[in-house]
Amino acid sequence: MKYRSLGRTGLEVSTVALGCEGFVGMSAEQLRAELDFARQAGINFIDLYASNPDLRSNLGSALAGRREQFVIQGHICSVWENGQYLRTRDLQKTEAAFEDLLTRLGTDYVDIGMIHYVDQEADFRRVFDGEIIRYVRRLKQEGRIRHIGLSSHNPAVARMAVETGEIDVLMFSINPCYDLQPPGEDVDALWADESYDHALQNIDPQRERLYELCAREGVGIDVMKVYGGGDLLSDERSPFGRALTPVQCIDYALSRPGVAAVMVGSRSQQEMRAALDWCTASEAEKDYASVISRLEKFTWHGHCMYCGHCAPCTAGIDIASVNKFRNLCPDRGEIPETVREHYGALQHHASECVACGACKSRCPFGVEIIASMRRAADKFGY
Ligand code: SF4
Ligand code: SF4
Repeated sequence: MKYRSLGRTGLEVSTVALGCEGFVGMSAEQLRAELDFARQAGINFIDLYASNPDLRSNLGSALAGRREQFVIQGHICSVWENGQYLRTRDLQKTEAAFEDLLTRLGTDYVDIGMIHYVDQEADFRRVFDGEIIRYVRRLKQEGRIRHIGLSSHNPAVARMAVETGEIDVLMFSINPCYDLQPPGEDVDALWADESYDHALQNIDPQRERLYELCAREGVGIDVMKVYGGGDLLSDERSPFGRALTPVQCIDYALSRPGVAAVMVGSRSQQEMRAALDWCTASEAEKDYASVISRLEKFTWHGHCMYCGHCAPCTAGIDIASVNKFRNLCPDRGEIPETVREHYGALQHHASECVACGACKSRCPFGVEIIASMRRAADKFGY
């Protein structure tokens, strides 16, 4: 298992992490076996948005005696009503549901208190100008949540949340098909066939800027919908008309700036294994570019997708990392110290490019690499 820092939280989390919703309907014993399997594989990061009381209790039972082995991301504003999950902004219901979460999990805190599912600007205002954020701040002061997070599918709203400076963790939907879509308040548009029936080009700039902002500000991203609800794994259902593997989807998400972990919702050890395969996969098996660079209707031409195909560089430059650090620099103003440090830690730098052109033909996305090395050298000064 590989571990990454979850932004500025100080937490080290497994890159492959576990969304627990798939465990609905399992007994406490079954769930304990799933958690044993996850732990043995090195997973130390779990997410629970579901308010289902049986699931919460069974997970609590499975966590008994080993609470500290897991970083728990528990959702706030997710309640159980009339036998169903419901998102709410009602404070009383929210408080009761969070108390229920802690009690059933058998813990007195969660590591990340995740404000659940904020996709609309009006909802964002309601949360951040009202009693929900005051409640969340109080939970943090009391140590009952260690960090504040927010989950969203809308890059415009997610950016607003990051810019408040209050959230340390963002749970966001990332995969190569959603990344083509412009921001919107209707999550269903991300799944709708008509959103993909016309040609689309390049990762949406607002999404890309969001990931870069998170990386700069130390807001750790954990990813949901990494398989696009399963559609990306199917030749028939994928908007691309070609399936990606779980390993390719995971590698795509983990290659975006700011991303620390991918929350894979698993209903069985078999599904968990398919995700864990990423940890031992070869570069060829991880290679999402081999699929997405050959699509007709959807293109990323001229845009670095951090796939690493251009390696090896004659001068030993890690071209994908140079491009990533260059993109993490704001257009104007100072380069953030962390970005400067990461760039400095590279063994070879953009100024060492000898313009041999060897990398160009290997880039499946047609990136003008020599020009991008020059831009990076200008930006960093070497
Ligand atoms: S053109 Fe520059 S970046 Fe590309 S392989 Fe040659 S030295 Fe490396
Ligand atoms: S320059 Fe091209 S090959 Fe290299 S990482 Fe970027 S997209 Fe991939």
